[in-house]
Amino acid sequence: MSFINENYLELQDSYLFSTIAKKVEEYKTKNPDKEIIKMGIGDVTRPIVPSIIEAMHKAVDEMQDEVTFRGYGPEQGYEFLREKISKYDYKDRGVDINPDEIFVSDGSKCDVANILDILGDKNKVAITDPVYPVYLDTNVMIGTAGKYNEEKGMYENVVYIPIKAENNFVPELPKEKVDLIYLCLPNNPTGTVLNKEELKKWVDYAKENKSLILFDSAYERYITEENIPHSIYEIEGAKDVAIEFRSFSKTAGFTGVRCAYTVVPKELKSITSKNEEISLNKLWSRRMSTKFNGVSYITQRAAESVYSKEGQKQIKENIDYYMQNARIIREGLSKAGFTCYGGVNAPYIWLKVPKGLTSWEFFDKLLNEKQIVGTPGVGFGPSGEGYFRLTAFGTRENTIKAMERMQK
Ligand code: PLP
Repeated sequence: MSFINENYLELQDSYLFSTIAKKVEEYKTKNPDKEIIKMGIGDVTRPIVPSIIEAMHKAVDEMQDEVTFRGYGPEQGYEFLREKISKYDYKDRGVDINPDEIFVSDGSKCDVANILDILGDKNKVAITDPVYPVYLDTNVMIGTAGKYNEEKGMYENVVYIPIKAENNFVPELPKEKVDLIYLCLPNNPTGTVLNKEELKKWVDYAKENKSLILFDSAYERYITEENIPHSIYEIEGAKDVAIEFRSFSKTAGFTGVRCAYTVVPKELKSITSKNEEISLNKLWSRRMSTKFNGVSYITQRAAESVYSKEGQKQIKENIDYYMQNARIIREGLSKAGFTCYGGVNAPYIWLKVPKGLTSWEFFDKLLNEKQIVGTPGVGFGPSGEGYFRLTAFGTRENTIKAMERMQK
């Protein structure tokens, strides 16, 4: 006999993307002549830039030579990459993060999920709502979320912190004491951000309550405004209370290549049930060297080249391209009479669904009347009801066409 982890039975089936795909297929079958524009997925579409491709080719060639061939690499990532990350993403921006605090991985999705391995199942967890669904589901998997309440659409042990137009998308600090706090900034799906003063309140709360902030900044490169922190460590004292997750996926088009990193500062500590302080950097290092064999050499050389002068220039062109799309969407929607948020520091536009419609009803209306596919906000959490997400990751041509349709 073998037993399962019964927490998995508490997971709610994510109908979101499968329902979307099904509805689109049905529509296509009934309307084969109609051209559908997809603005729902959060995947990049621009190819990897030439300087990164060149670095990958070079690394591939090294693999065919006896002298330069590489086998297993260091589990934490090659030093050449961790040094570049430390210098360009942190030290040059006035943040003191050292290479031994950086752990290279094959994706932020895995990292935000796997971090719970070292944090255990005794934590009271707070998530902003709506948010990237992985945080919640992985807590359900380890049992910290508790039972699902159908009526509320919420897990009973999770503290949901609404972010919506009424609070200007600024989450309020929890009234109760929580142990783990997930912050995703710039936010997926709302595309909104917090300024330094607002983020400082969270760092201060975490210090006061000895909480740990899990800070996901996968969209950091999309920030265009001043006074918006790219890293939580820009806030004084954050090294004592936060782990940061960063990814090359949306920064450099690595959604298929796979490379990310997690920063676990040396000073960061959590406690045992006997109140002993344990270094999280040491625990994460132990976890990674046991369960992970590192990211491929070729991929790490590719990630390293992101920091070259050419690499920076070329990835910026792609990001600018998406952000131009974001501007076209924001302006197009405003002209069409919609209220929308985000799209200034993130590739996501979060629009308010017209009064009287749910976000799924709006999905159907948009598909049937305009042949545009987006994502219903409620799919990202109960506070997403009444909203809808469009992404700027499409082609310019389709983005313009979609906005022309919206205005008709
Ligand atoms: N974090 C957020 C907020 C995301 O939106 C995504 C992907 O959409 C990820 C993490 C996943 O990143 P990766 O491709 O590095 O696994």
